[in-house]
Amino acid sequence: MTRSVSIFGATGSIGQNTLDLIRRNRDGYRVVALTGGRNVDRLAADAREFGAELAVTCFEACLPALRAALSGSGIAVAGGAAALMEAADRPVDWTMSAIVGAAGLAPGFRALRHGCTLALANKESLVTAGPLLMAEARAHGARILPVDSEHSAVFQALAGEDMAAGERIIITASGGALREWPLDRLAEATVAEAGAHPNWEMGQRITIDSASMFNKALELIETKEFFGVEPEQIEAVIHPQSIVHALVGFRDGALMAHLGAPDMRHAIGYALHWPDRRALPVARIDLARLATLEFRAPDLARFPALRLAREVMATGGGAGAVFNAAKEVALDQFIAGAIKFTDMSPLVEATLDAMSREIRLADAMDSLETVLETDHLTRIRARDLARSRQEQTT
Ligand code: NAD
Ligand code: MG
Repeated sequence: MTRSVSIFGATGSIGQNTLDLIRRNRDGYRVVALTGGRNVDRLAADAREFGAELAVTCFEACLPALRAALSGSGIAVAGGAAALMEAADRPVDWTMSAIVGAAGLAPGFRALRHGCTLALANKESLVTAGPLLMAEARAHGARILPVDSEHSAVFQALAGEDMAAGERIIITASGGALREWPLDRLAEATVAEAGAHPNWEMGQRITIDSASMFNKALELIETKEFFGVEPEQIEAVIHPQSIVHALVGFRDGALMAHLGAPDMRHAIGYALHWPDRRALPVARIDLARLATLEFRAPDLARFPALRLAREVMATGGGAGAVFNAAKEVALDQFIAGAIKFTDMSPLVEATLDAMSREIRLADAMDSLETVLETDHLTRIRARDLARSRQEQTT
């Protein structure tokens, strides 16, 4: 049986790993839509290789180049945000949501309307609009499967179990590139230093988010929204080897752990083949060679993002959308060299404070439009705050 699939963010790290798995079983799939951004050559090459029906770049300015690269192929091309939504309107059995950032929210929402399976790598969807996304899936009989490695691990540890019998969920964090750095040195961390992950090969943004622990902060919120547990039931623990991805603790005291090589093709493959388990081209673990697995509590003084995530979960409503948008702006500013690594958390915290004075955050979660509006307003506020902080220091 061939399955029809679309991949949003096909040119990125998750998208390419997804295509790698599909390539190994080419006849099993019919590729409908592939989307990307500026990497038009990659997108066009993949669209040709997989015989996609439609290739979309999210940037209208890149459309002429994409059109030229695919001329004569018979593959439809389109560009811009509206084109992403049209791609999401094409019914498929399985959709990969792997756009980075809040930009992935609207296409994922739209894809759920077909009642398809949505493989969700885009954690920002759950952080910004978790309750709405889960409700949308229920309303259309669609299924969301986690692709973030920790959440896939929890999902697998819960297979055949009832979360009602679960006490707690522990997600692990490698600690990122700067996990051993003292606070004073962290202030001087460069984009290249923060972007060199010890264990995982990922896109630049999530790699830097790993170093700042904002990635783990987003994942705490993602856990709450996806598994419907209380914030107090969720823990994050530093585990430098990235072999144990998550553990579920049950009320009898048992802990079910998920172990695997740090290779995203495991979580992607699990979501692709679920409920089956098929062979995957990931490394097998030799425990005797590994010898040690270490765990330790995260240092909230050096990495305040985790504390902020707790505050966001306590507030609920639109706080997640504010947190994520402020984080995206802070990351943009760090990558652009406008702020220091250690300025990101204070900027996010100041933005949360400012936004909570402007809108009643707890209520700002009635529709997707409200979430997108909150996202938009937050970005403006965060950029203003970054600018005024810069003026104060220069
Ligand atoms: P990436 O930067 O490698 O790729 C991002 C993709 O999104 C690209 O195809 C890009 O063209 C597209 N894109 C960028 N901006 C866009 C916009 N404004 N509109 C539409 N498309 C846009 O990112 P990634 O590392 O593959 O991560 C993708 C998502 O998966 C993120 O939400 C990330 O947090 C999550 N995730 C990634 C990994 C990983 O191993 N890379 C692991 C867990 C979760
Ligand atoms: Mg993860």
